[in-house]
Amino acid sequence: MDPARDARPTLRSVAGLYDLDRHGLGELLAGEPAFRVAQVWDGLYRRLQVPEEMTDLPVPLRARLSAAFPPTLAEAARRRSADGRTVKWSWALSDGARIETVLMHYGQRSTVCVSSQAGCAMGCLFCATGQAGFARHLSCGEILEQVVAAARHGTRRRLSNVVFMGMGEPLANFDAVWAAVVRIQQDIGISARHLTISTVGIVPGIRRLTAARLPVNLAVSLHAANDALRDRLVPINRRYPLSVLAEACQHYVRRTRRRLSLEWALIDQVNDRPSDATELAAFAFPLRAHVNLIPLNPTPGYGAPGTARPGVLAFADQLRRAGVTTTIRDTRGSEIDAACGQLAG
Ligand code: SAH
Ligand code: SF4
Repeated sequence: MDPARDARPTLRSVAGLYDLDRHGLGELLAGEPAFRVAQVWDGLYRRLQVPEEMTDLPVPLRARLSAAFPPTLAEAARRRSADGRTVKWSWALSDGARIETVLMHYGQRSTVCVSSQAGCAMGCLFCATGQAGFARHLSCGEILEQVVAAARHGTRRRLSNVVFMGMGEPLANFDAVWAAVVRIQQDIGISARHLTISTVGIVPGIRRLTAARLPVNLAVSLHAANDALRDRLVPINRRYPLSVLAEACQHYVRRTRRRLSLEWALIDQVNDRPSDATELAAFAFPLRAHVNLIPLNPTPGYGAPGTARPGVLAFADQLRRAGVTTTIRDTRGSEIDAACGQLAG
C-alpha cells in the first residue's frame, strides 16, 4: 500500500466537510483535475452550497462528496420570533448531541451567535446551558458550519458579525474556537474586528488571546465584582478569582490596546444594588472597560427574576456617573428562548 496515499484524510480522520481547510480539501481531491479544488472551495465558502448543489461538478464527484460528508448539523428545529428579527436553530450533531445557533437581524446586516460546546461545564447558576451540563467540545468545522448556515439563511442581508455567545465556554475549547476564528476571517471573509469571544473568565485563555495575532473582541461575563457573590453565581471564580481575572484583563488591554467589554446579567436583589454598581465601577474603570447590562432572562433552573426596567436604568446611571461607558442589551429572542443564557439544546 502506498503510505502517502494512506496519509490522506479519510472519512474517519476528518470530522466533517467544514473541518477541512483548503490544503486538506486538496489532498482529498488528489485524483481530480487541479481546478476542482478551487471549484469546490468556491461552492462551499462563496456560494455557500452543499455538495449536491454544486452543479458545476461532475455527478460522481458530487455523489462522492455527499456520501463521504453527510451534513454534520442536521436541523432538528427552527423558530422565528414574531417580528422576524431573530431565528434560532436547534441542530442535532452526528453523534446525537444538540446545539443551538441564533441569527439576529439589524437592518441590512446580521449577527450570528454560535455555540462552541454542546452544553457547558462551568455551571453558572442562572444559565440554562450551565444547568444542563456538559456534553462535549465542538470541532472547528461544527462551529464554522453554524456560520455558513446563518450566512445561507440571510440571503438579502449581509452576515457582518459573529459572537461566540451561544452554548459553551469558548476559551475552554480554545484550539477549535481559534481555528474557527482564523477560518471565519480567511474563508468566510468576516474581519476579526467583527468577531467577539465571550468568556466566563478562563484566565489562561485570556492570556492566549492577549498573545494572538488577530484583533478579535473580548467580552468577560463578570456578573459580580466581589469574590463571595461571584463564587456563588459563577463557580469558576473559585479557580480564577477576581484579582487574577483583573490582572489578566489589565494585561490584555495594555498589550492589545483593544477595548474590553464586561457583561453583567442584572438579577433582582442579587447583583443590582447600589453597592454592586460601586464594585463593578471599581473593577471596570481602571480597565477602561465597556459594560453591557443584560436584564436576566428566565431559565428553568433559577428562580430569581431579572431586574425590572427602572432598576436597570438606575444601575446604568450609577455606572455612567462613575465614568464607565454602559449599554443595556435588549432581551431580544426571549419569547423563543433564544436570548442570552436560554440556550439548552
Ligand atoms: N460561556 C460564555 C459565552 C456564552 S454565554 C460566557 O459565559 O461568557 C453568553 C452571555 O449570556 C454571557 O455573558 C452569560 O453570562 C450570559 N447569560 C447567561 N445566562 C443568562 C441569563 N439567564 N440571562 C441573561 N444573560 C445570561
Ligand atoms: Fe457556561 Fe457561559 Fe452559561 Fe456560564 S454563562 S454556564 S460559562 S455558557
